[in-house]
Amino acid sequence: MKVQSNNFIPAARIAINDPDLQTAVSAGTHSAFTKRQAAMFANGEAHGQAMRQQAAAIKRHVLNNLPDLLEQAEANMQANGIQVLWAADAAAANQHVLDIAQRHDVRAAVKAKSMMTEETGLNHVLEAANIDVLETDLGEYIVQLGAETPSHIVAPIVHKTKESIRDLLIAKANMPPTDDTNEMTYFAREKLRQKFLAADMGISGGNFILAETGSVCLVSNEGNIRLTTSLPRVHVALVGIEKIVPTVADYATLTQVLPRSATGQAMTVYTHMVNGPRQPGETDGPEHVYVILVDNGRSDIYTSSYTEALACIRCGACLNGCPVYQVTGGHAYGWVYPGPIGAVVTPLLTGLENASPLPHASSLCGMCKAVCPVDINIPRMLLDLRHELVQRGLSDTIWNVGMKAWAFGNGSSGRFVFGGKVAARATNLLQPKSLPGPLGGWTKYRATPKFAPKSFHQLWQEREK
Ligand code: SF4
Repeated sequence: MKVQSNNFIPAARIAINDPDLQTAVSAGTHSAFTKRQAAMFANGEAHGQAMRQQAAAIKRHVLNNLPDLLEQAEANMQANGIQVLWAADAAAANQHVLDIAQRHDVRAAVKAKSMMTEETGLNHVLEAANIDVLETDLGEYIVQLGAETPSHIVAPIVHKTKESIRDLLIAKANMPPTDDTNEMTYFAREKLRQKFLAADMGISGGNFILAETGSVCLVSNEGNIRLTTSLPRVHVALVGIEKIVPTVADYATLTQVLPRSATGQAMTVYTHMVNGPRQPGETDGPEHVYVILVDNGRSDIYTSSYTEALACIRCGACLNGCPVYQVTGGHAYGWVYPGPIGAVVTPLLTGLENASPLPHASSLCGMCKAVCPVDINIPRMLLDLRHELVQRGLSDTIWNVGMKAWAFGNGSSGRFVFGGKVAARATNLLQPKSLPGPLGGWTKYRATPKFAPKSFHQLWQEREK
C-alpha cells in the first residue's frame, strides 16, 4: 500500500466534510467505546485496571525477552510440524507466500482478516501472479468489493453506512435489492462458502503466537477464520515478530483484554489455536501449515526509544477513543494503521519524512493511553516524534518560525515583559477579528480575547509593594 500520510491535512478536511463518513464513523466509534467501557469495568474499576496492568506487564516481559522467545516459539512450532519462515521485509514475506503457492500448485486462496497482509500488500502480489484471492471477513470482503482499504484495524468498514454497503453489494456482487442487514449478511455468507470449498490455500494473520506450545492463536466473531485455516490444503499465517506470548497463562490474560477493548465482548465468539497440520487419523485440517515471521521494520523499532509501540495488540480502542480519529476516520492517515497508534507506527515503519503530519494528529488528551489495554504511552511517543521532526528539519516552516519566536520571547524576563506589553496594547487597540496570513488558522475558529488591564506580573509587583 502506497504511503500517503503526508497528505493527512487535506485528506482530513475531505473526511470532515463527508456527511456519510461523519455519520458512520461517529456511530461506530462511540458504540465501540461505550461497549469497551462496560466490558472492561464489568467487575469494577479496580478489576479492569488490574487486568490492564497485568496485560501490560506481560507485554513488557515479552519485549525484554523477545529474541529468546522467538527462538523458543520457532522450535516449538517446528516440533508441531509447522514450517517456520522468516521475512526481513514486506517483499520477502510476499515472496515466501508466492513460493509456497507455486510449490503446492495453488490457484485460489481465501484470506482471514490480517493487518500484516495489508502492510505487505499481499493481495496485489497474488493477483499479479494470477492467484484468485478472496477476503472472507465480512468487512474486508466489502472493502475488497469496493477496491478500498480498511479504515480501522478492527472494523474495516466503520466509515461506511448501511446504505452504501447495500449499494455496493448490489452493484458489485449482484445482490438482490434489500435493506435488511441479515439478508445482506446471508447473501455474503453464501458467496463466501462456495469459495472456502474451492480454495487451495488459506491465509491468515495471527493475534498471538504461544512460545510455550508453538501455537498460532486467532480470535474472531464470524467463523471465517476457522474455515480459512482448516478447509484448504495449505494454511499460511503471516505474523509480526512482536506477537509472541510466553505461556498459555499469559495468553489467558491477553485474550481477556483484547476482545473487551476491541468489541466490548468478554470473549470473542471463536478462539482458534493452530497447532500444526492434520495428523494421521484426524479428519480435517490442512496438510501443510506455514508461519511467516515478519520483521518489516520492527527490529529497528525494537532497538529505538519507541520499543513499547511493539506491545500493541491491535485492539483499536485508542482509535475509538481518539477525538481526531472520531472525525477523520482512518483513510486520512494514509497507510495501514490509523488513529493514535498509527500516528506512531506509520512514521516508524515508513519513515518520518513520509508521515510528518501524523505526530501532530493528536490533541494529546491522553485518552489513547487511558484506554490502551497494555498501557502504551502513545502521547509520550508522539511528543518524541514531534521533537525528532524539529531536529531533522521536517516540521512545518510556520510552526518552526513561531516556536523560535516564542523561545526568543521567553528567553529573558525583559523580552517577555516587553513582548507581553506590545501584544496587549496591539490586541486591545486593533481588536482584530482575524489574524493575518497563516496565523488566521488560529482565529478562524476562536475569538481574540481582550488582554486584562494589568498583567499577572504587574499585579504581583503591586502586591509585593
Ligand atoms: S495502542 Fe493500545 S489501544 Fe491502541 S490498538 Fe494498540 S493495544 Fe489497542
